[in-house]
Amino acid sequence: MSSYRNLEEYNLEITDEVRSRYSSIIEEIGENVEREGLIKTPERAAKAMLFLTQGYKQDAVEILKGAMFKESYDDMVIIKDIELYSLCEHHMLPFFGKAHIAYIPNGHIVGLSKIPRVVDVFARRLQVQERLTHDILECINTTLKPKGVAVVIEASHMCMMMRGVQKQNSVTTTSGFRGQFEKIETRNEFLKLISAKLS
Ligand SMILES: [Zn+2]
Repeated sequence: MSSYRNLEEYNLEITDEVRSRYSSIIEEIGENVEREGLIKTPERAAKAMLFLTQGYKQDAVEILKGAMFKESYDDMVIIKDIELYSLCEHHMLPFFGKAHIAYIPNGHIVGLSKIPRVVDVFARRLQVQERLTHDILECINTTLKPKGVAVVIEASHMCMMMRGVQKQNSVTTTSGFRGQFEKIETRNEFLKLISAKLS
């Protein structure tokens, strides 16, 4: 056996229920679910949907609490360009982009990999970009209790690009600030640092 296995587990009952509904949808749009290329599609689509919405069963607070460490560092910590993939709750189409997150520690720091995991927990649900921004902000603020926290999300929405207004190049930016980031100087320093390119 290999030393590492990435196990994917699906609840069989739910997967089967979602699979049969995808099967009906495929028939309704005029396709033949029996043709070769589509035979396993309802099952694959069901598993993809359950993967993309797994955030409902995850606890972002627990993820943060599991990796908080006492530390006297009290300058700004920035994690920028965190890849983000979510589903808009109005069309269930993807929106994707980047999150930039900063906090100013107040006695505790958090393992750096936990911040992107918190992003995933809230992104892997049916979302609107505004609420996603707020969910991440509030989770870090109430759990880590830093001196300040800032979240900026830039994302493109497939529901705008493929349908509706068909705007291919528009990017939606949302942001939220708590604590010291509510001060204009701190906020500007953060915004300058996330827009700067080091190389
Ligand atoms: Zn939408």
